[in-house]
Amino acid sequence: MSDAAIEHHSSHLPGELDLAGLTRPELAVALTGLGVPERSLSMRTSQLWHWLYHRGVTDLEAMSNVSKEMRTRLAGAARIGRPRLVTSQASADGTQKWLLELADGARVESVYIPQESRGTLCISSQVGCTLNCRFCHTGTQPLVRNLTAAEIVGQVLLARDQLGEWPTPTLERRLISNVVVMGMGEPLYNYDNVAQALAVIMDGDGISISRRRMTLSTAGVVPAMDRAGRELGVLLAVSLHAVSDDLRDELVPLNRKYPIKDLLAACRRYPGSSNARRITFEYVMLKGLNDSPADARALTRLIAGIPAKINLIPFNPWPGAPYECPDWPVIERFGEIVNRAGYASPIRLPRGRDIMAACGQLKSASQRAGRRPRPA
Ligand code: SAH
Repeated sequence: MSDAAIEHHSSHLPGELDLAGLTRPELAVALTGLGVPERSLSMRTSQLWHWLYHRGVTDLEAMSNVSKEMRTRLAGAARIGRPRLVTSQASADGTQKWLLELADGARVESVYIPQESRGTLCISSQVGCTLNCRFCHTGTQPLVRNLTAAEIVGQVLLARDQLGEWPTPTLERRLISNVVVMGMGEPLYNYDNVAQALAVIMDGDGISISRRRMTLSTAGVVPAMDRAGRELGVLLAVSLHAVSDDLRDELVPLNRKYPIKDLLAACRRYPGSSNARRITFEYVMLKGLNDSPADARALTRLIAGIPAKINLIPFNPWPGAPYECPDWPVIERFGEIVNRAGYASPIRLPRGRDIMAACGQLKSASQRAGRRPRPA
């Protein structure tokens, strides 16, 4: 959110300024607007930061080390909001999916995936998506806009509320240990807001999830990949899905702008990638299209020299989808070839399928709830 957006907020009725999701500089601006003098600004900002992001309070009155006078002033002008929880679904495998409604009525989804060694929260970066990947359900959703940084952070705050994970636990005890920006939208088409949100999520005095435990998933916006590598230092997942430009042009139309060669060059120069910090290539398995042994071998040749891991994602069907998922042995054979070439190639188990929480399915709930784009 820009400073202009904050001013806009502060001209609202008392209580309208939402502190949740603000970055440190935004919080300082907000406090200045509330009359906090320069000399105590840094101390006040840190105090509030701790309550917002370490303790996760939603009640200004709970901030016991903030003076009564300050709390009263805050209460008159600000609140600590959350996205509105519309539905919460739990899968038999422990996956949980939350459908959230934002201030303007737009809806996004977040998914929590518990695994043995970690718990991953998958968050959205846009309402809908402009990329129109042919196999992805989100791409068929008509309403599209960027999420604000606060709305991106809000997904983490709400997930922590839902899992009862406040105050921020030590790393070993965390339910949410990792965050992947792999939900609805293309994060690198919303670079500034995503970058701001990540800064809030990484901050060690708050939510405190380190950059090494955060992954941005992109369909391959090459210039923004370079920028992310320089500025964010998070892990990268790249949605490759095809080994020829012909097929990738069709599956991921963004390929016409940034073809495979350019995309892989960006991966090769992504800073800090090493065997300990590998790039994940996502590869959706589509029956008869990209699942042959020859495709697998071509894939290993393409990525040769890149410290990489290949995530094989069995295609998750959705109503009316033009593709099918290959049979399991076909996926396994593909994985073996990639594996023998020296790349880890886990097959991503279809988690949360019973609640349509799997990759590329994040759309259905809002659609079922009957949302239509509003006339401008
Ligand atoms: N725009 C980003 C992040 C969102 S998509 C990106 O493209 O990476 C997250 C992942 O789910 C991508 O790899 C995407 O290609 C994959 N995906 C989308 N629809 C899918 C489906 N129906 N089945 C399996 N994977 C899918």
